[in-house]
Formats: sequence, C-alpha cells, structure tokens
Amino acid sequence: MSNNTIKTDVLIIGAGFAGIFAALSLVEQGYKKKIIIIEKGNNYFKRYCPVDHEKICNGCGGVCHVVSGFGGSLHYGDNVKLSYFPSGRALYKKIKDNYFKYLNKILDILEISKSDFSSYDVSNDKYFSSQIKGYPVLTLNSLKLKKILENIYEELNKHSNIDIIFNSECNEIQNNKDEFLIHTTKNKFICNNLVIATGRAGLFWWNDYMDRLKIKYEPPTISLGVRFECPTSILHPIHQVHNDFKTTFYIDKHKFKTFCFSSGQGGGKIKFVNYSNNYTFLDGHTTDEDESDISNFAILTQLKHNDNTPLSFNEVEKEYLTKYKNLRTDKSGKPVIQSYIDFKNRTLKNKTLKDFQNNNIMYSKLDLEVKRLDKVLDDKIHSSLCQAFEKVFLDFCQYSNFDFVSSIKQISVIGLELEFMWNLPHLNSSMETNIENLYMVGDASGVAQGALQAAISSYAITNNIIK
Ligand SMILES: Cc1cc2nc3c(=O)[nH]c(=O)nc-3n(C[C@H](O)[C@H](O)[C@H](O)COP(=O)(O)OP(=O)(O)OC[C@H]3O[C@@H](n4cnc5c(N)ncnc54)[C@H](O)[C@@H]3O)c2cc1C
Repeated sequence: MSNNTIKTDVLIIGAGFAGIFAALSLVEQGYKKKIIIIEKGNNYFKRYCPVDHEKICNGCGGVCHVVSGFGGSLHYGDNVKLSYFPSGRALYKKIKDNYFKYLNKILDILEISKSDFSSYDVSNDKYFSSQIKGYPVLTLNSLKLKKILENIYEELNKHSNIDIIFNSECNEIQNNKDEFLIHTTKNKFICNNLVIATGRAGLFWWNDYMDRLKIKYEPPTISLGVRFECPTSILHPIHQVHNDFKTTFYIDKHKFKTFCFSSGQGGGKIKFVNYSNNYTFLDGHTTDEDESDISNFAILTQLKHNDNTPLSFNEVEKEYLTKYKNLRTDKSGKPVIQSYIDFKNRTLKNKTLKDFQNNNIMYSKLDLEVKRLDKVLDDKIHSSLCQAFEKVFLDFCQYSNFDFVSSIKQISVIGLELEFMWNLPHLNSSMETNIENLYMVGDASGVAQGALQAAISSYAITNNIIK
C-alpha cells in the first residue's frame, strides 16, 4: 500500500440520497468503523446550473450540477415529490417487510410523518380513459428540501468516523481478494465494503464498469420520450386529482406511461441533465414558489424489438441518439423544441421562438433551439406517441374545461427524455451483488427510482456490513 492510499472499512461512491443514507443507517446502528463518501460534485450550496438562469448548458466540464453534488439528483433549490408505497414495489419485492421498517426510520430522520403525505382516491375516477396510479405523495418545496439537506449534512458531520470528500470522482476499481482498491481524481483508497450509489451522473460509467468487475445483471428496458409544455390552467386541475399524475396504457403494442407530472402552484420547470457522455436529456420539477403559466409532463415508451426483447443501449444510440445529436447547430446532443402541431405533421412552420411567441405556443426560456425533434423518431413510435399524447391531453382538456382543438395548438414538445437505463444487477436482499461486500443502492440498483426508495435501499445493506 503506497503512502497516499487511504484505508477505510466502508467506501461509498456518491453523495445522493442513497449514499447519504448508507452512511447514516450504519452509524444509526452503532457502526464505529471508518466510512468515507466520495462525491464528484460540490457541496449542496455550491451547485449552480446555468440553464436554470437562462444561460447555455456547457456540460459543466462533465460534472452536471443538477445531478451531482451533496443530495445527488435532488437539486438544492428545487421542489421534490416523495412517493409512498405502493410506489417502489420492485424494491419491496427484494427486501420484503424490512421496507416499512427502513421507511419509518428515514421518515423520522427527515422529520416527516406518514400523515404529511396526501392520499388520493383515484379508484372511481371516471374522467380519465386509463387508470390512474394512486399512491400518497408529499411535496417538499425548495425551502424544505434545503433544510433537509442542511440537516442531514450536519448530522453526518456529527459522526467523527464519517468523512465526505467532494470533487473527487471514482474512475477505477480493482477487486483484490477481500478488499477493493479505488482510484479517484484525488486519492487512492482501500476498503473492505464498497457501496455503489452513483445514480444518474454515474450511469454510463458504472453500466460499463459492471462488465469489467464481472457483476451479473440483466439489461434494462430503456424508455424514450418527450416532454410537453402546456398551459398551467389546463394541467393544474389534474395536479389536484393526483399531484404526481401517472397512467399507463398500450397503443399499437407500444407501452406508454405519463411521467414526472409537473404542474404545481407555480407551474413546472424543465431541467437539463447532462450524463457526462455527450448527451443532455430532460427531467421536470413542480414549482410552487415561482409564478409560471407553463407546466409540463412527459410521455415515455419502452424501446423493444418485435419479439419483445429490449433494445440495447448501443441500439438506442444508433437508432435514436445519433439523430438527436445531429439536430442542433452546436452538434451537442442537447434538448430541442418543436410546436406540437409541427411535431405531429413532421413539418417546421414555427421556425423560431419568435414564431412561438407570435402564435401563442408555450415555451420555457431555456437553452433550446427550434428543430425537427420528430425526425428522431421512426414512423411507428412517432405516430403512436402522438396518439398517446392526444388521448391523455383530451382527458386533461375535458377535465379542466378547455377546448381540445384550440388548446393543442399551444403545446410544444421538448426532447429527448431517456429513462430506466440502469442495468438490473442480481442483488440479494442486502443489495449485495455476486461480488461479496460490493453493494449497489439507489438508482444504480435499478429497483429504487425515487428519492425515498433510494434511501430505503441503503438501509438494506447495514445488517450485512455490521455482521
Ligand atoms: C431533475 C430531477 C427531478 C427528480 N425529481 C424527483 C422527485 O420529485 N421525486 C423523487 O422521488 N425522485 C426524483 N428524481 C429522482 C431522484 O432524484 C433519484 O431517484 C434519487 O436522487 C436517487 O438517489 P441516488 O443517491 O441513487 O442517486 P443520485 O441522487 O443521482 O446521486 C448519485 C451521486 O453519485 C455521484 N457520482 C456518480 N458517479 C460518481 C463517481 N464516479 N465518483 C464520485 N461520485 C459519483 C453523483 O455526482 C451524485 O451526486 C428526480 C431526478 C431528477 C434528475
């Protein structure tokens, strides 16, 4: 071991909710050995996204501050919705009744009680043509999220056996008998237990690295989609039906789901997410503080072959992402916008944002170029996606008492959005991989997509490590 190699019992890669709660759950159960968290981003108060300030997305040198730093993908200054069971069923199947035990511990730490979650009775809702998923949701506004991040940072700091190292990116892992050697941009570490909590920012790096370490997994079923910007006056009444409105249905054998419904008191915000591999995709947030007459939601579809097997990432890249990358003049693989009517007709009559303004088409002031987003999609997906959108939007207009034909002319489409790209590792009920003492938690585990579920998955590792 060289002099500059740091020895630790537990090394956690990533300081998102999964990484943070992996450390907190261990100390809560009396673990006294050394725990180090390495994080490639900054501390929470140093996270700045230029796009949020109407500036250009320059990828922040490969460390996207929307998904990197203390809090991970929970960006200091945004709203977040926490979803209660039955959201997170895949994780429940893995860790069974411990799910609720861990959930209660996490809610205690967050100083939240179950009664803070709003429940929605959607079982008899006759206004929507496909069934709405009903589960309790709690919205944390940006002030509450800030407070939570500050409190848990303080809590971690109280424990002298926990260190957090920022601006330190893990780029190599070696598995030597019963210990791991980890290289980061700053240091080398040796540890007995390695916890991978790398979320979105580590997605492509870690998906590749799993092969090198011979970790067993199944390929994911990747979903591709676009986000629709709509008037808040149409979407906000739906937010009151369920503030995380989700529905799933099939059109021409393609499975569609609405995703990340963002229409709070102040509308919705579109976030750019740079995956440090030359692609910038989208995500959304509800906003309560800012006043905005624009809201948004996404529709995603699973990418599968005719025989129902999922497209690999390489196939997705070849079929869709190369076209996406060539859309913009800066050749950057960054989001573009098109009016819905142009998108549907595969035209570009509204060529500039000035045209959008003149024709009363919704658009957020973001780093966007008006381009033929429709060109990314083949005819089958394009036509069924348009049908899917119109089916859902008709429901929304009828529910909110708006005229469908005139309202649809106001809609813009922004893309791309890509979801569910994580390899699905073979994990036991302690979230341990086929490599002893190597754990995968949070989004990286493929079964915990959501902040609360990321934290729950991390509690599952404790018994094994303490034992
Ligand atoms: C814009 C947006 C909105 C969202 N809204 C919601 C919501 O409202 N409700 C909800 O429940 N979920 C939401 N999610 C999803 C939620 O944020 C994630 O499910 C959750 O954060 C997962 O936690 P995690 O710790 O697994 O990963 P992350 O939170 O993504 O954290 C991973 C951390 O690992 C670090 N990292 C990655 N690779 C390396 C490396 N090689 N070396 C060092 N550090 C590394 C990253 O920098 C990052 O800080 C949203 C996500 C996004 C992007």
